[in-house]
Amino acid sequence: MDRGRGESERDDGRYARERDRMVDEQVAARGVTDPRVVAALRRVPRHRFVQEALQDRAYGDHPLPTGEEQTISQPYIVGLMTSLLELSGREKVLEVGTGSGYQTAVLAELARRVCSIERLPRLAERARATLEALGYDNVWVRVGNGALGWPDEAPFDRIIVTAGGPGVPPPLVQQLADGGRMVLPVGSPENQVLTLVENVGGEIRKQAHSDCKFVKLVGKYAWES
Ligand code: SAH
Repeated sequence: MDRGRGESERDDGRYARERDRMVDEQVAARGVTDPRVVAALRRVPRHRFVQEALQDRAYGDHPLPTGEEQTISQPYIVGLMTSLLELSGREKVLEVGTGSGYQTAVLAELARRVCSIERLPRLAERARATLEALGYDNVWVRVGNGALGWPDEAPFDRIIVTAGGPGVPPPLVQQLADGGRMVLPVGSPENQVLTLVENVGGEIRKQAHSDCKFVKLVGKYAWES
């Protein structure tokens, strides 16, 4: 898909070069090599999802603040979670924790449609504006507690949660389609395990993947503050 291409043509080549280096050194070198995921990460202009003062650091090997005490995930984590979803292009995806909208854009490149929920209205508003400016027209951003899912749009072929909670929120399991995959960090507020949940013919299978650290998933079915 060509979304975002106009942008990368305009960004003076410099960010495009930094982006290629980010993908080669931080993502592919650590084992995320799915060609569709790698190509999407090369396309999405990550610097557009961070505040102007931080744009020079957008392609570094770390998370960055998005304001409101939240962060845009490290590029490697975005690549890893996206590849665990195994997207073919036909899926309807639920994302919990829109944040900057960067992960949302990567999903939008690789899936049919993305429904994303953000708890904080200011972040949701900014993410919506950025995604629209970049021409993503298969993304819906809503304000709310994503641990409750998005019942009107369920079931989802894929679910991704980009904030860490104490367990797998039951409404998300209920809204995962048969054959669906969900990736989310589960654990304490300080440390979590990236967990893959699959719905195989109605049987729910869980698999621990690797250690990670996300900001807190807040609200019912998550941390209360
Ligand atoms: N994927 C984001 C990372 C966001 S950090 C990015 O690429 O920028 C996690 C986000 O989850 C924060 O913006 C936080 O406000 C949001 N969040 C926390 N609890 C939530 C909840 N219960 N429902 C929806 N969003 C939540």
